[in-house]
Amino acid sequence: MDERTGLPVVTMIGGGQLARMTHQAAVALGQSLRVLATGPGEPAALVTPDVVLGEHTDLEALRRAAAGAEALTFDHEHVPSEHLRALVADGVAVHPGPDALRHAQDKLVMRTRLRELGEPVPPFAAVAGVEDVTAFAEEHGWPVVLKAVRGGYDGRGVWVLDDAEAARATVTELLAAGTPLMVEQRVALRRELAAVLARSPFGQAAVWPVVETVQEQGICTEVLAPAPGLDPGRAEEAEQLALRIAHALGVVGLLAVELFETDQGLVVNELAMRPHNSAHWTIEGSVTSQFEQHLRAVLDYPLGATATTAPVTVMANVLGGDSVPATGVDERLHHTLARFPDARVHLYGKAERPGRKVGHVTVRGDHLDDVRTRARLAADHLSTGVWSDGWDPHA
Ligand code: ADP
Repeated sequence: MDERTGLPVVTMIGGGQLARMTHQAAVALGQSLRVLATGPGEPAALVTPDVVLGEHTDLEALRRAAAGAEALTFDHEHVPSEHLRALVADGVAVHPGPDALRHAQDKLVMRTRLRELGEPVPPFAAVAGVEDVTAFAEEHGWPVVLKAVRGGYDGRGVWVLDDAEAARATVTELLAAGTPLMVEQRVALRRELAAVLARSPFGQAAVWPVVETVQEQGICTEVLAPAPGLDPGRAEEAEQLALRIAHALGVVGLLAVELFETDQGLVVNELAMRPHNSAHWTIEGSVTSQFEQHLRAVLDYPLGATATTAPVTVMANVLGGDSVPATGVDERLHHTLARFPDARVHLYGKAERPGRKVGHVTVRGDHLDDVRTRARLAADHLSTGVWSDGWDPHA
């Protein structure tokens, strides 16, 4: 507890944009988020005064960050399980706990457990050698999707293999580099959805409306909330599936269930147990944002309402452009705000690199096409300094 305020201290491991936006929500609850960051220039370290510098792989740094905190939680899933178990043994309230978090750390553990639970997952197999991939493809057909079991994000760690030759080259190289691998069927997906909820230690759970996530080259570019044209029965099915998984795995805090929608129904792709890109829209588009909800859940506070605040909300990620824009970020921001006064801009304080998530824009309204166009234009302009529709402020 913070003696000055009488309110709890939550520690988040990792100082990225998720911790930065969680800090923003902590402020409203009377708190300052404590973050374990690797450097003072990380997005969250720039905004909270309560920064512990250190690596998430260093148990002593984790212990320093946890000292005196009511709960310890994460902005990424890379803390080794043995360190989390040591913290639990110290008496730290680690949320989600190591037994739940494993399923967000290891895709093979996750797939195996969900299959045991009878939840829909694509056919998959562990990969110890090239022959495991070719045998799998003989049964399920090419192409197949090869995945790093641990450590992947934004599509890094996902390879589509078209034939045995591609498998030989890629698998040999990755195994030689020590990357643990699995293979799965390439799903004929119509689109990608996400069901996101929060669950408290008490067992209360609250789910947001299911959203559509638009991906380009493995990176999420847009989130449409609620998922347009989603059959109400299927939306209910996705929500129930996410709730069953949260309870079965004992998740505390946020759970994002990334789904593929196919002609045959829903298939689970990924689990994340932390605030997630697919729910950034909730900051403006829901009564309770995912960041506040995550704090409420890990502190075992009552959860907030998850109703929407508008018929349509679109979140567009601001990705670093392929080349350095001619105008600086401040000028791009200025022009974006001038053209779209109702756009909500979130910048993370990160250096721009091609494809890197450096911010997002949220727009709300009544009509999807209009809202989506405005969010896209604003995000693209923040990325590149160019209005992709040719708009001229001086015309
Ligand atoms: P990451 O952990 O890097 O985000 P994911 O497993 O979520 O990786 O995969 C990234 C993207 O690759 C997915 O959003 C999807 O577009 C595509 N993808 C992943 N697995 C499959 C699959 N089995 N079939 C078809 N597309 C897939």
